[in-house]
Amino acid sequence: MDRFARNDELVFLPLGGSGEIGMNFNAYGFGPPDDRQWIIVDCGVLFGREGNSPGVDVLMPDVRYLADQRENILGIIATHAHEDHIGAIAHLWPSLRCPVYATPFTARLIAGKLEEAGLGSKVRAKEIPVGGSLTLGPFQMDFISITHSILEPNLLAIRTPLGTVAHTGDWKIDPNPMLGEATDTAALEKLGDEGVLALVCDSTNALVPGSSGSEADVRESLTALIGTLKGRVAVTGFASNVARLDTIARAARAHGRHIALVGRSMQKMVSAARECGYLKDFPTILDETEAAELPRHKVLFLCTGSQGEPRAALARIATDNHPHVHLSEGDTVIFSSRVIPGNELSIFEMQNQLAARGINLLTAEDHFVHVSGHPCRDELAQMYRWIRPHIAVPVHGEMRHQVAHAALARELQVPQALVPENGQMFRLAPGRAELIDEVPSGRVHLDGRVLVAEGEGLAKDRRAMAFAGLLVVSLVVDGKGRVAGEPVVLGEGMPEPVEEAVLRAVEQAIGQNKSRDPDALAENVRRAARRAAHDSWGKKPVTRVLVTEI
Ligand SMILES: [Zn+2]
Ligand SMILES: [Zn+2]
Repeated sequence: MDRFARNDELVFLPLGGSGEIGMNFNAYGFGPPDDRQWIIVDCGVLFGREGNSPGVDVLMPDVRYLADQRENILGIIATHAHEDHIGAIAHLWPSLRCPVYATPFTARLIAGKLEEAGLGSKVRAKEIPVGGSLTLGPFQMDFISITHSILEPNLLAIRTPLGTVAHTGDWKIDPNPMLGEATDTAALEKLGDEGVLALVCDSTNALVPGSSGSEADVRESLTALIGTLKGRVAVTGFASNVARLDTIARAARAHGRHIALVGRSMQKMVSAARECGYLKDFPTILDETEAAELPRHKVLFLCTGSQGEPRAALARIATDNHPHVHLSEGDTVIFSSRVIPGNELSIFEMQNQLAARGINLLTAEDHFVHVSGHPCRDELAQMYRWIRPHIAVPVHGEMRHQVAHAALARELQVPQALVPENGQMFRLAPGRAELIDEVPSGRVHLDGRVLVAEGEGLAKDRRAMAFAGLLVVSLVVDGKGRVAGEPVVLGEGMPEPVEEAVLRAVEQAIGQNKSRDPDALAENVRRAARRAAHDSWGKKPVTRVLVTEI
């Protein structure tokens, strides 16, 4: 593995996760430019914003550049089980068709997704033990335990004949993570001593000074807080933060409350964790109906839906539409989570619904009930001191985070810092790192069950229709190109007088039409209809003209 040909190169190619927090997809290539072998580190989704892409919940990277050379893809390696790192595997696997590797907890959750997608018989997520290794072609990888807001986060030390890349995945430095492994600082220091070419690193909190804080402190604070509460208590947070679920369950037990898990992903995460040998001392879980029968001060509900997701448990509880869990005046909801940018409106709407019903709200804004899972600036600095890379490659952030992260790396004497964008291919070695190519990239929408490239206009059409409705004009023309019968105008999502104005304009346009070409007629009518809508209403609906020739 220490041998390489003269024209071999080590390249880095992000297809997702640069310029956005989500949809992580990073590829490393090794070999001559015309025959590279690839590994893919993480393959995640980004959750849609309803306003930008109506009807689309999930976005993922456009991977056609790699799909076209899939016989050279050696594997997908997942650093950890967050959706922005594994959520696209089942959707994109049919185009990539390569083996998938992860540590046991992550592998179990990936397997569940593959199963749900009907791919269970075609691909298995292969388990790498915690702290284990994997060799794929020229890439020799060690999984180094770090800490984050989920079980089994890994930093990958990727050794190649042209140098070593440390790919952090998501991480923080939590001296006391409460569940799972602590950061393997000895391994990180040793890696730094060996010499690291590039550190490809999480940028999420690169603008936040200080340190992210420890789960142990949240445990202390939440336990004290829950002890002060009367009535029913519901706590919402990220289901994948298993240490937090454990914290909340123990806090409940400490104050004589029984717990119930409300929402499918809570149950899924707890059972995946238990199957992997975690949560051995987790309190007995009641089902929702049992819990509902307990005295109010004897129960705590652990609920999904901290981001205001409309179908999740808490949104239904907030409007009192949950079949089993009912809160009322004097009860409390704790948001043991942060507001993910973009979700403010739905979260605040849900909080307003709860507040209107006299339910107390405790959030990270006014109580110490959450810590971030990503490294703040002091933690980043510590990682650079351990790893001492020649090249800093900030990923997993919006551009402002990546740029601030690169500046910090330079301050810390890293000789070179790159700020990659999705689709940019960087040669990391040999020689000084540089941008060598831009490959097709972008986003793909999961629209219902179909993957659609972002540029294909569906989202644009939907936005246009959401803004100004849909106008359809139907015409019948005879063999001589003359309009036979009355035109029909159908307006969806617009005030009635607009439809009438459009009908008059359509009739006028037909009267003035001199062309015998049905396409020209259709275009004249379309323009007249749109203009009439605009004149009478101030908006231009999506307009379609159907011409039936008889
Ligand atoms: Zn992430
Ligand atoms: Zn993560």
